[in-house]
Amino acid sequence: MEATARRPLQPTRSLTEGFWAAAQAGRLVIQRCSTCSAYRHYPQPMCAQCHSTAWTWAEVSGQGRVYTFTTTYQPFHPFWSGRTPYTVATIESDEGVRMVTDLPAEDTDRVRIGSPVTVFFDEVQDLNGESMMLPRFRLLPADDTSPESQTVDS
Ligand SMILES: [Zn+2]
Repeated sequence: MEATARRPLQPTRSLTEGFWAAAQAGRLVIQRCSTCSAYRHYPQPMCAQCHSTAWTWAEVSGQGRVYTFTTTYQPFHPFWSGRTPYTVATIESDEGVRMVTDLPAEDTDRVRIGSPVTVFFDEVQDLNGESMMLPRFRLLPADDTSPESQTVDS
């Protein structure tokens, strides 16, 4: 079955405008508390650590690891018809925040908890049919996942 439906996306809100603007420029940014420096994602008006409402956007590495994942074989939205199986993963970034992504189809068979990932920007259509860049993650090539190339979080 050919997939013609649009990808479901969250509408941009004032609190997320900076995140999406950076993505259009190929940069991944995460909210960072101006008082205690804690990163947070998804965007929220107040820091959960110190309750400060002062924050900035911080450009981050786009590197992380698979915290957990699930592979779906049933399309629960018309966009995913013809795209199953697909894998949805929670990524823990090197900065310690967790983000949800769908992995490229070629990563489905080799994803593991702890697999190193990197961000990429996928051109998709928003809810109005306009092109936009969606930050997604993919596994590093197999050559980059050797134990020698992995860093250990302290
Ligand atoms: Zn804080």
